[in-house]
Amino acid sequence: MDRSIDRRLCGQCHQSIGSEALVAMNRLWHPDHFCCSSCKRPIKQTFQAADNHAYCVQCFAQKYNPKCSGCMETLVDTCLLALDRHWHPRCFTCNTCNRPLPNGEFYLVDDKPYDLDCHWAKRLEKREHIERGER
Ligand SMILES: [Zn+2]
Ligand SMILES: [Zn+2]
Ligand SMILES: [Zn+2]
Ligand SMILES: [Zn+2]
Repeated sequence: MDRSIDRRLCGQCHQSIGSEALVAMNRLWHPDHFCCSSCKRPIKQTFQAADNHAYCVQCFAQKYNPKCSGCMETLVDTCLLALDRHWHPRCFTCNTCNRPLPNGEFYLVDDKPYDLDCHWAKRLEKREHIERGER
């Protein structure tokens, strides 16, 4: 039993492969025959594997990546984990001024994220409410 013969065949069309071969998923492929399991387009460069299927980066991201809790779009490269949810850094914003929180650093007031300045303003505001309420 010689498995090396099998490996000389393209994983898609099972024809033998000439000089131009692509190695992926422990198999050889004609460069145009290594396709994304989802969009069926040839994967020319980077691929992602899941459950023995290869996907192009875009399809893999759509299938498996988390979605941003701000804009509900699929997160591709940068993503921020905060408040048990995923965000684009630009979508994770201060609840008062709506500016993106620097480095994803935030301060919680009433379970809502604020940047440093707005968080102090918010806390002062809350304190005034409480003090007024107590009087
Ligand atoms: Zn082929
Ligand atoms: Zn695809
Ligand atoms: Zn977003
Ligand atoms: Zn702010």
